[in-house]
Amino acid sequence: MRGGTLLWATALLAALSPLCGRAEAADRHAGRRMMASRYEMHGLVEKAVAEYLKILASDPGDPQAKARAMALISVQMPTWLPQEAEGVFPFAHEVVVWEGEGDGGRRQAATAPRAPEEQGVSGGPSLPLRVNSLLPNRGGRRPFAAAQGELAPAEQDEAAPVGYRALVTGGRFAAREGERWDELHEKGFRRIDYAYVLQPVKSRYELRVAVHWETDDQAEVALRALRATLAFYCLAKEQLGFDPTGKWGDPIDVWVTSKGQPGARAQGRSIYLYAVETERTPGEWLREVGHEYGHVCLPGIGGFKDTDDEWADGHISELLFPKWLTAGGVPGWMPWSVEEWEAAARPERERLMGLARGRPPTEALLKGTDEAAREYLLGMVLVVEDEGGPEALAKALAKCAQGTAEKFVQAAREVGVEVVKED
Ligand SMILES: [Zn+2]
Repeated sequence: MRGGTLLWATALLAALSPLCGRAEAADRHAGRRMMASRYEMHGLVEKAVAEYLKILASDPGDPQAKARAMALISVQMPTWLPQEAEGVFPFAHEVVVWEGEGDGGRRQAATAPRAPEEQGVSGGPSLPLRVNSLLPNRGGRRPFAAAQGELAPAEQDEAAPVGYRALVTGGRFAAREGERWDELHEKGFRRIDYAYVLQPVKSRYELRVAVHWETDDQAEVALRALRATLAFYCLAKEQLGFDPTGKWGDPIDVWVTSKGQPGARAQGRSIYLYAVETERTPGEWLREVGHEYGHVCLPGIGGFKDTDDEWADGHISELLFPKWLTAGGVPGWMPWSVEEWEAAARPERERLMGLARGRPPTEALLKGTDEAAREYLLGMVLVVEDEGGPEALAKALAKCAQGTAEKFVQAAREVGVEVVKED
């Protein structure tokens, strides 16, 4: 009987020891769990999710942290995630990287894709970084920002990033309250996914792009449009220093719809892709998204009322983005091939620069509102970029934000590029 009790006690101890071990592991996170639930109580979703993701980063199997993180994210998408989200974010996602010059093309997916249907990510040549550290990030929010005279403040607390690292979801989320309504078309969009960009100084991913779509068969185009917009966000910020999301800003919204005629449009910080079931070539998809991204991002030059595109900034990005991508390298996760886009843009750039260089400026060209004046302005913009680089162009654009062609010539002169060469 005694022997039996001893045996029983030994067995009990043996059974308890792994339990005690587990209890200890859970205790390691007691502080974080308490903090997280306090944040939850105060409705601080980002901070609560961050605590749970930090627990998961050290204990990926932690059921409580995972359940709470999923529950919170299912109700409200955090505007930022801790860097620890990489690999432990509890929904399908992928971390993509666009490294800077000197990284020798070691660019690759930082984590394996979490969603098997997502396309893989491979390396490629590097994007030459041209960081305009002196230039404030002034995102043009036309037409609203122009009317309000509002420009995003300079991001002074951020060191120049070395390349870009982004967390892209592929979760095909159900759009939540406050996310699904498009005010322009007064229409609800059921599905949504997100791209977060790492802010190295803060060690956190901040929401920069959201894509909205209606039906499951639009998912592929939508997720590609999300990546293209993310790439243009990085490219424009790198080459010109402009960031339309700003420090406290909202993300760029991309709306993918079967309605309308094939084409695209920008309004404020939104990009609309219409009739997406109508097939486009890779070059055409990139041209459409790239053009609209210019409207969203650049401070803009406009006033061409007698044309079908009053603002020239869409064409500026349409013509220059493929040039920069081709010269500096396209990230492996770019959703469409850039070749065809650049093949069309290159001769157009040459033609427009020829117009600007070959003609003395007349009153009609500088003050006009027709297509000839618009093309002349585009030619001048391209000459400034050609002769002074993206940095000179960015400075000139920033000096005449929302301005006219005449103002651009003056701004270009101030940054040291004489666009108008009179005999
Ligand atoms: Zn346009």
